[in-house]
Amino acid sequence: MYGAETVQLKRGLLNKALRNVAIEEGIKIELGKKLMAITQTEQSATAIFDDATTATADFIIGCDGIHSATRKAIFPNAPNIAYTGLLSTGGFTKLDNVADLYGSIRMTFGEKSFFAYAVSNLGEIWWFNNISHAKEPARNELNTIDMSQLKNTLLELHKNDPKPIADIIKSADAIELYPIYDIPFLANWHKGRVCLIGDAAHATAPHIGQGASLALEDTIVLAQCIRDLATVETAFEKFQSVRQARVQKIVREARKVGDSKTVPSKFQQFFRDLLLPFLVKYEAKKMDWVYSYKVN
Ligand SMILES: Cc1cc2nc3c(=O)[nH]c(=O)nc-3n(C[C@H](O)[C@H](O)[C@H](O)COP(=O)(O)OP(=O)(O)OC[C@H]3O[C@@H](n4cnc5c(N)ncnc54)[C@H](O)[C@@H]3O)c2cc1C
Repeated sequence: MYGAETVQLKRGLLNKALRNVAIEEGIKIELGKKLMAITQTEQSATAIFDDATTATADFIIGCDGIHSATRKAIFPNAPNIAYTGLLSTGGFTKLDNVADLYGSIRMTFGEKSFFAYAVSNLGEIWWFNNISHAKEPARNELNTIDMSQLKNTLLELHKNDPKPIADIIKSADAIELYPIYDIPFLANWHKGRVCLIGDAAHATAPHIGQGASLALEDTIVLAQCIRDLATVETAFEKFQSVRQARVQKIVREARKVGDSKTVPSKFQQFFRDLLLPFLVKYEAKKMDWVYSYKVN
């Protein structure tokens, strides 16, 4: 529909491909360094790492994710990331008789919880579920839940949902469990010679699968701004002004989709299931602005 085929790939592969291109282009990559602080002058910015080394450059781009140390360094009073009221579980597994599902993603608004899975061309099942959980878990609270406890919880939540959901859960060797956060609004993405991109500036909940796409779009737009404008400050300003409206709209849309995954009453469930086939078509059309976007 948008002139491109859907390709499902694990993010490690994408990271590897991007890293290889960067290395081919002669870009130096240093691993194992943790950013702790940033200092700036009129002419340069300096990153200070946990091994006491530093790196000074004309500018710094903070692409260090939702918990960004760069954001904390330049905006110590920025609002905290926001818990969205949902937990997510997920993993990879194998089952027989699912190869015919390759190329599509099956999503189930279940009786008590949301479940989705896709089948890779190697026959592996990639799955995730969302659990409505109003109270933000305390730090490390989720680490205390063991695998069999988690499996039983998932099996209970999905006991009346269609096959093969229960089989997928039963066959899982490992299950990830994490709370879902976003950044509803960050007024400024840059300060002096430092600029935030990707999740560091505008983390979105994963419900419409756009976080990585937004981060990639950012890189292209920011590179163009730096190439075309006279100073880094004007480039950063232009970058934010070009990108902010789109990313805020996506962050809000993802929240809305996430909110529709909370547990419905029997009454709501009846109407949801009745209307869903029509809504899916309507929603797909409504999302045209997300997928037809061209980075110019
Ligand atoms: C459950 C889940 C499902 C998702 N599904 C999708 C999807 O289907 N499609 C999609 O497009 N997006 C999806 N996303 C979102 C996507 O993963 C992110 O939006 C994307 O990875 C953001 O890229 P980024 O480069 O900004 O940050 P990240 O990918 O988080 O990268 C940040 C990097 O910075 C490094 N770092 C962090 N702190 C420091 C520090 N102090 N010093 C040095 N380095 C540091 C980290 O190690 C990491 O390598 C999902 C996210 C989640 C949580």
